[in-house]
Amino acid sequence: MQNTTATTPAALVSERLVDSADVDALKEVVEKYAIAAPRHMIDLIDQSARNDPIAMQIVPSAAELVISSDERPDPIGDHTFSPVKGLVHRYPDRVLLKVHSACAVYCRFCFRREMVGPSGDAMDETDITAALAYIEDRPDIWEVILTGGDPLVLSPQRLTKLLDALDQIDHVQVVRFHTRLPVAAPDRITDELVGVLSKPRATVYVAIHSNHARELSDDAVAACDRLAGAGIPLVGQTVLLKGVNDQAASLEDLFRAMVRARITPYYLHHPDLAPGTSHFRVPIEAGQALMKHLLGNVSGLALPTYMLDIPGGYGKVPVGPSYLTTTDDGLTRVEDINGKTHRYPPSDSGPA
Ligand SMILES: *Cc1c(COP(=O)(O)O)cnc(C)c1O
Ligand code: SF4
Repeated sequence: MQNTTATTPAALVSERLVDSADVDALKEVVEKYAIAAPRHMIDLIDQSARNDPIAMQIVPSAAELVISSDERPDPIGDHTFSPVKGLVHRYPDRVLLKVHSACAVYCRFCFRREMVGPSGDAMDETDITAALAYIEDRPDIWEVILTGGDPLVLSPQRLTKLLDALDQIDHVQVVRFHTRLPVAAPDRITDELVGVLSKPRATVYVAIHSNHARELSDDAVAACDRLAGAGIPLVGQTVLLKGVNDQAASLEDLFRAMVRARITPYYLHHPDLAPGTSHFRVPIEAGQALMKHLLGNVSGLALPTYMLDIPGGYGKVPVGPSYLTTTDDGLTRVEDINGKTHRYPPSDSGPA
């Protein structure tokens, strides 16, 4: 097969991922949200399965036209905290830079789906200069997080320029990339790109977005190996998605596969209230039950923190299960991995 990305419903029909009878129904979806189903991910799809977890993430569906009343175009309130175009400053020590609006894959559940796309509103040179000046003026900014879109889609030349400029700002100690490229198009993690990422004075971290163990194909693992082999620490970001990974075994396989690929699972994101994504959402209680199961069954290395980004721009907080309760009598009890509770501190005489 050619190394092509399917970007139209017609192309998805020829990949046998969309029925030709459904093309009309997808017209409206396509007008709103871009399609990019990269060759590497298409090849991972099990064509005989009805709801293949890879296909569900990259093949558009008419369900995306169903907007529920609690959904919003800017689900995590980026606009409220954007003093300069493309820069979001919500937490004191770190800023997001949305340097690029295009991605190698357009995930159907994307929380920034109203902003990303090939024709999205990316930062131009003037915006980047303004953002760098903003960062330079604020010594509290310790970390710059490059996101988008997918920042690793930028050319090595543009990345070098950006990283050089950040390296001029002494208080920027860490530069973090948020990317899906190692999973979406692993051959684009070239030695040249790895060279660019391993050069800066600041410590570079790469956060890899992956939602299913099958995404960590041999090629994807090899791409991670090139990054980790160059000394770049890798962390994993996963979105909890109905029908894709909302089974304990599925998350267990994914997080183990990440650890094997030298990716430390960092966050399991509760899905944001992005328009037309209600078919992907599960209740928070379901996510908590999954986290409880994982805690009792997998290595601590393979356990991310379950996070909710509070709608309206209030930031992210952990929403995993709690193991501690304090009762009316002022006693603290802690639940163990088998569901049994114990007093803390323990008492030899009192009730358990
Ligand atoms: C998610 C996010 C970050 C990064 O948060 P961490 O908890 O450090 O991963 C930073 N800034 C903004 C605006 C964010 O939404
Ligand atoms: S790679 Fe990230 S930014 Fe791009 S579509 Fe997927 S979730 Fe959205």
